[in-house]
Amino acid sequence: MQRTRIVSTIGPSSSHIDVLKGMIVEGMNVARLNFSHGTLGEKSEQIDLVRAASKELGVRIGIMSDLQGPEVRTHMGKKELRVGEGDLVTVSGKEGFGEVKVKPSSVLRSLESGDELLIDGGRIRLVVREVRDDLLKCEVLQGGVVRDKRSVHASKPFDIRGLTEEDREAIKLSLNKGVDFIALSFVKSADDVLEAKEFINSLTDDPPAIISKIETKEAVERIKEILEESYGIMVARGDLGVGMSLQEVPRVQKMLIRLANLHAKPVITATEMLESMVSSPVPTRAEVTDVYNAILDGSDALMLSAETAIGNYPVLSVRWMRMICEAAESSLDIRLDFPVDKIPSFIGRAAVEASEMLRCPVILCFTYSGYTARHVARHRPKAKIIALSSNPRTSMLLTLTWGIEVLDVGSNTEEAIEGALEYCLDKKLISGDDEIVITYGHPHGKARTNTLRIHKASELLSSKPSEE
Ligand code: PGA
Ligand code: MN
Repeated sequence: MQRTRIVSTIGPSSSHIDVLKGMIVEGMNVARLNFSHGTLGEKSEQIDLVRAASKELGVRIGIMSDLQGPEVRTHMGKKELRVGEGDLVTVSGKEGFGEVKVKPSSVLRSLESGDELLIDGGRIRLVVREVRDDLLKCEVLQGGVVRDKRSVHASKPFDIRGLTEEDREAIKLSLNKGVDFIALSFVKSADDVLEAKEFINSLTDDPPAIISKIETKEAVERIKEILEESYGIMVARGDLGVGMSLQEVPRVQKMLIRLANLHAKPVITATEMLESMVSSPVPTRAEVTDVYNAILDGSDALMLSAETAIGNYPVLSVRWMRMICEAAESSLDIRLDFPVDKIPSFIGRAAVEASEMLRCPVILCFTYSGYTARHVARHRPKAKIIALSSNPRTSMLLTLTWGIEVLDVGSNTEEAIEGALEYCLDKKLISGDDEIVITYGHPHGKARTNTLRIHKASELLSSKPSEE
């Protein structure tokens, strides 16, 4: 199986238990629910389906709620409206009003006569002629077909940021369902992340992890403060490519990934990774190369969007993703060039160096918050990383970090080690003669990771393993 994590967006193509099971078997690690589409009821059902598939197969699958954020889109439902130059159309966000519906509706209030509305990336242009309560009367400057869920921009920036009413509802549902990650769209500063965290913390004592989607120029400029407040980030190349020139996106991708790796925080590279697979069973050469390079850049996870949400080949898309990951990982070099300033990160690095020099097949890594496990993984060791976690939340969060398998353990260190070694022997990951690297905190429960031990596996087993 691949070590790079695969995040798959769930949508109409993948909302079936058999498809989901197929995707999990092929290597999906995290299911993403895109709250820009569908109803809350559908999201709730999709979460249940993912959980059922994960349980049937006995594979841990993280769940990520991706909020729409302060993003303005058309809201046409199944209706399509053809408009031609010179036509007069009404625009509104209120139920029952307007031929063109826009959400969130509050943004329309800042518009006045003479302002322009740009729909669907600017393909359709309207100019406001009259404002009447919640209704704008507009003239069409450039015609086309207005469809559902298309982007809406105005000639002056909409004044929206932070959590919309829709986002708050999405968060409530996500907390009720116990999702693992909440992805915030169009984050522009650390304050946006703090506002979301504050709202979440007012509703629960066990908050999910926040993934900030980096998809605006402002976010790139303030990445340090945003990363500091976030559990991880997503390189959201779709909107990034609108907010800055397209040819700048690769440089920004590499910079964001490097920075996340430096802080040992998970980073997802997203959007159009295997886009042609929406309608083709085989990816393009360029897509394969892009996925491969995103792994060499240091991505923890790669995301499939339309490919698995509305595409014709959701299971095949995950399979291709896995196959490319496996190929890239075989040429992924160990990286030891990160500055080390804290004891756990030093132990993480030392564990990787030891495993490399002594050819240890496995690193057993006790981790409560996941911090140490992430500081091992960022070096991309050849050795298998097994995180020994006594915190169920952490076990789920590590589904997004490169190359970590999690075993749930109790509080007794030596028992946990023995259990893990038996598991490794059983799975033929090690033989009794292999040397194993172990990291943990001593005294237990009082110290963070501060100890590195290297043992021959057979020394730690009460019963000698049978040699085959
Ligand atoms: P979206 O985010 O798919 O929710 O727009 C990802 C991106 O913009 O790339
Ligand atoms: Mn986006």
